[in-house]
Amino acid sequence: MMGSSAEEKNANNRNCTQRKVLPMIRAIVGANWGDEGKGKITDMLAENSDIVIRFQGGANAGHTIINNYGKFALHLLPSGACHQHVLNVIGPGVALDIEALLAEIKTLTDRGVPAPHLLISDRVQVLMEYHVAFDCYEEERLGKASFGSTKSGIAPFYGDKYMKIGVQLCQMLDKDILRQRLTNAAKLKNAMLDNLYHKPELDVDALTEKYYALAKQIEPMVGDVAQYLHKAVKEGKRILLEGQLGTLRDPDHGIFPFTTSSSPLAGFGAVGAGLPLTAFEEVIAVTKAYSSCVGAGPFTTELFGDEAEELRKRGGDAGEYGAKTGRPRRVGWFDAVATRYGCMVQGATDCVMTNLDVLGYLDEIKVCVAYEIDGKQVRDFPVTPLLDKAKPVYVTLPGWKQDIRGLTKYEELPEKCRQYVEFIEKEIECPLTMLSNGPKRDEIIYR
Ligand code: GDP
Repeated sequence: MMGSSAEEKNANNRNCTQRKVLPMIRAIVGANWGDEGKGKITDMLAENSDIVIRFQGGANAGHTIINNYGKFALHLLPSGACHQHVLNVIGPGVALDIEALLAEIKTLTDRGVPAPHLLISDRVQVLMEYHVAFDCYEEERLGKASFGSTKSGIAPFYGDKYMKIGVQLCQMLDKDILRQRLTNAAKLKNAMLDNLYHKPELDVDALTEKYYALAKQIEPMVGDVAQYLHKAVKEGKRILLEGQLGTLRDPDHGIFPFTTSSSPLAGFGAVGAGLPLTAFEEVIAVTKAYSSCVGAGPFTTELFGDEAEELRKRGGDAGEYGAKTGRPRRVGWFDAVATRYGCMVQGATDCVMTNLDVLGYLDEIKVCVAYEIDGKQVRDFPVTPLLDKAKPVYVTLPGWKQDIRGLTKYEELPEKCRQYVEFIEKEIECPLTMLSNGPKRDEIIYR
């Protein structure tokens, strides 16, 4: 339960006498293109949480967490997976790849982590092997014009969900309903397989057997997530939601069409988990001290050549390579235009800057404070056709030329490093309340 000052704040802020003291509900989301280091922050904050929830996306991205058991790339499991006191929830907004989930649990238990406590929504839809196949076929068809999909089946999965030909987990636990759903989906799918992709048709019998068996395997973990969470809210449980990817990959507010297929916004957390919107108290947006991005699309502050290679090599805990795909990430200077927008659209109450330690080698550091588009300077993040024409307007700040790992207090940071942080804080118009100066859980400076 919250402390008394927070209780008073709630009582004052909300002009509603009937409302009970609200529990702490926090969302951790990406301010940028994804890979901002949300996994570490979630893993860190999971320690003080009862419940950690994934509310969107699937096994198409990865959070890297480093703890006493070692280093793990989590794709579908919520980042509370290594904490025994945490219930990890997979909400109905997620794309559930059952095989990927089981494999991920095994990678944890094989390395000595006790099996995570999991609650999987009975309403979540299941990502099928044919979604992965369609993702690959479509990338193949698009050739050079492809969007750089991770080929995890995410776009075909969400397409089917909104076309109403997807399969909910509760339907999968009844073999007859499952067969019916698959027979229906196969009519449309096979027409595309025959005529567009020229690939083998779906085998409904084989799919029915396979997915019924898989659903049965996870049945003990399946339940009514919305009911559970509403009860948990009433009981004052501490709840943490973790977004995958970041604002700029949102299908509505991001760099369409270089976006993902589900909303990575905190606002969608209420929907994708099944929580009352009014209960959200903190939205923590995560950003990196520089920019990084996987996949295609406009990336205004991108660096190339040796400068890029040096930053890529030094970034993250082992270089900037995708946690899911191993693909080298594109890297660039900090983009305050994109991040201010990212924090705004997320409705961020706080911002965390990760990877601050990485920049210690630079003599000078650039920060993009505006874009030049058609000869005019703009500070507001534009729509994609204009973004394609945007050139970065930089301010150059002095580097601090010091290793800041191991420092635990803000005042201990070199002055030039604090200047960098404070400059960015002003530009993004959101308080930078935590600074991460290393990949490990305890490498964090609170302000
Ligand atoms: P996520 O998808 O947002 O969780 O991001 P990832 O975990 O895939 O990428 C972030 C990378 O940065 C990972 O390699 C982390 O281990 C690493 N990381 C996170 N915070 C820090 C930090 O403060 N310093 C350094 N050097 N690496 C960090």
